[in-house]
Amino acid sequence: GRTFFVGGNWKCNSTKASIASLCSTWKESGAGVAGPPVDVVIAPPSVYAVAAAEQLPSGYQVSLQNTWTGKGGAFTGELSAEMAKDCGINWVILGHSERRHIPTIAESDETVATKVAYALGAGLSVIACIGETLEEREAGNTNAVNERQLAAIAAKVSDWTNVVIAYEPVWAIGTGKVATPDQAQEVHAALRVWLAANVSPAVAESVRILYGGSVSGKNCNELAGKEDVDGFLVGGASLKPEFTAIVDSHK
Ligand code: 13P
Repeated sequence: GRTFFVGGNWKCNSTKASIASLCSTWKESGAGVAGPPVDVVIAPPSVYAVAAAEQLPSGYQVSLQNTWTGKGGAFTGELSAEMAKDCGINWVILGHSERRHIPTIAESDETVATKVAYALGAGLSVIACIGETLEEREAGNTNAVNERQLAAIAAKVSDWTNVVIAYEPVWAIGTGKVATPDQAQEVHAALRVWLAANVSPAVAESVRILYGGSVSGKNCNELAGKEDVDGFLVGGASLKPEFTAIVDSHK
C-alpha cells in the first residue's frame, strides 16, 4: 500500500516565536509516533526551514515551498535544489496554485514541470501541486485542467518514485469550502486512470495523491477514508495544534 502522507504548508507565515511554540505543542501531542506509518513533511518559509527542522517532532521532515528551475548562479532571490539538499532538506513543494495564479508570480505549466524535473534530478522529493479554479470547475473542465497540468510534468519526468501529487482545487484553498469526500475521490480516481493510461499502471497504483484545500481536524477523517485519498496538503490548519489530528487521521 501507499504510506499515508501529511504535508504542512506554512506559506508566508510564522515567526521564530510561533514556530517554537507550535513545535512544542505538537511534540506533547505525540501524533504520528505510534501506530501505522505516516510521512509528515512541513514546509516553513525558507529562512526558517533549517531552524524548524531542529524543533519539529522526531520523524517530521522539512520541505521548501519552491526552488529554482536549474542550478545556482546569477539568479538573485532564488534558491536551488542543491542548496536544499546541502542543508539537509529533502523535499520541495512545486506548482502550488498560489505560484501559478498570483499575477506577479504566474508560473506556467512548463515552468512548474521544469522545476519538478530539475529538483528530482538533484535528489529532492517533490510534492507536485495541481488543481482547477472555480471557473474551470463550473465550465466542466476539472479533469481536463488537472490532466493538462499533470501531462506537462509527465512529459519531463520518467521516474515517479520521489513524486507525491497534491490535488488542490483552487476554490477550496483558504476558503473554508472543503471539497466533499466524493468530490476529492472522483478527481483522485480520474488522475489514477490518466496515469495508468499515460505513464504506467504501476505508477498509477503506487503514487500518492494528496488532497489539499481547507482540510481541518474536523473534516480530515472522512476524507482520509476515501480509497484514493492518500493524505493531505494542509495550509491554515498546519499552523495550529489541530494539525496533529490530521497526522493521525489515517488511524
Ligand atoms: P488551506 O488548508 O489553508 O486551505 O491551504 C491549502 C493549501 O494551499 C496547502 O498547500
